[in-house]
Amino acid sequence: MPANDRPAVSVLGLGMMGTALAAAFLRAGHPVTVWNRSPAKTGPLVAQGALPAETPADAVAASPLIVVCLLANENVEDVFATLSADVAGKTLVNVTNGTPAQARQLAAWAAEHGAQYVDGGIMAVPQMIAGPHAYVLYSGDEQAFAAHQPTLAALGGAKWVGADPGLAALNDLALLTGMYGMVMGVMQAYALVRTEDIAATEFAELLVPWVGAMLTGAPEWAKAIDSGQHLTDVSSLAVNQAAFPNFLAAFRDQGVSTELIDPFQGLLDRAIKEGHAADGLSRIADLLRVDTYENSVRVADA
Ligand code: NDP
Repeated sequence: MPANDRPAVSVLGLGMMGTALAAAFLRAGHPVTVWNRSPAKTGPLVAQGALPAETPADAVAASPLIVVCLLANENVEDVFATLSADVAGKTLVNVTNGTPAQARQLAAWAAEHGAQYVDGGIMAVPQMIAGPHAYVLYSGDEQAFAAHQPTLAALGGAKWVGADPGLAALNDLALLTGMYGMVMGVMQAYALVRTEDIAATEFAELLVPWVGAMLTGAPEWAKAIDSGQHLTDVSSLAVNQAAFPNFLAAFRDQGVSTELIDPFQGLLDRAIKEGHAADGLSRIADLLRVDTYENSVRVADA
C-alpha cells in the first residue's frame, strides 16, 4: 500500500513513550501529526516526516485516530478540557498510565462530546515499541478499536480486555503489581547478601532460577483462588507464619530495613487468627480484599 493510503494518526504527548509511538506509526507509513506541550520535542519527529501541530485541537483535526500519551490522566483531563467540540466523531486512544476509575471518567467525557474512547495500557518500555515483545492492553469502545486496530498494530501486539473502559488500566496495574512484588523481593534479597560482602552478581546466579521456579506455582495458586479451594499439602500458612519471624529477625540482625516486608507478618498472623492455618499462600489473595478485611475486623471486634 503506498504510504499516503494509510490512515492518519495524531499523537498528543511526545515524552519518551509518545515519541516512540509516533516514530513507530511513521515507520509503518502512516501520516502522523504530533503535538507536545513543549514544542521543541516535535523536532526529531518532524525530521522523520511528522507534521507538527501548534495546539491539541489542530492535532485532533488532522486525523480520525488520536493517541494520547501524557504523564498522568490529570494532564489528559486538562488537555481534553481545551478540546470539547473538536473531538466529535474522533477515536481517542489514551495510553497514559492511570486508574480504572479515571479511564471510566474519561470515557464518559468522550461520550458526552461525541467521541469514541479506548483506554490502553502499554506493556513495554519505549525501546520495545513495535518489537516482538511489546503489546498494548485495550478496553472501551470495541467498534472503534476494531476500526483502528490495523493502525494500532504498528505499536506491537494488541490485547483486547473488554468493553468496560477501566479494564485495560486494571490489567495493566495488576501486571505491574506482579513486577513490583518481584522487584521488592529481589531488592530485599540483594540487600541481605550484600551485608556479608557477597556480590549481588554472584547471588543472582542462585536467585534468578529460584524465583523462576517459584513462579511456576502461580497457575496453581490461580486455580485455588478461582475455586476457593485453598487447602494445600505444599506450604501451609501455618508453616509460613512460623518461619517469617526468622526473616524479620535476620534482616534486623544484619542491619537491613524490614519496611518492605513487615506487613506480610501481620497478614500471616491474621490468616491464622481467622482459621486458615492449613491453607496455602493462595488464601492471601482473598484476605487482601477489603470487603473480606472489613468482615474480619468486625469478627475480631465482636
Ligand atoms: P515522559 O516524562 O517522558 O513524558 C511525559 C509527557 O507528558 C511529555 O510529553 C510532557 O510534556 C507531558 N506532560 C506532562 N505534564 C503535562 C501537562 N500538564 N500538560 C500537557 N502535557 C504534559 O513520560 P513517558 O513518555 O515515559 O510516559 C508517558 C506515559 O506512558 C506515562 O503515563 C507512563 O506511565 C506511560 N508508560 C511509560 C513507559 C516507559 O517505560 N516510559 C512504559 C509504559 C507506560 P513536556 O514534554 O512538555 O514536559
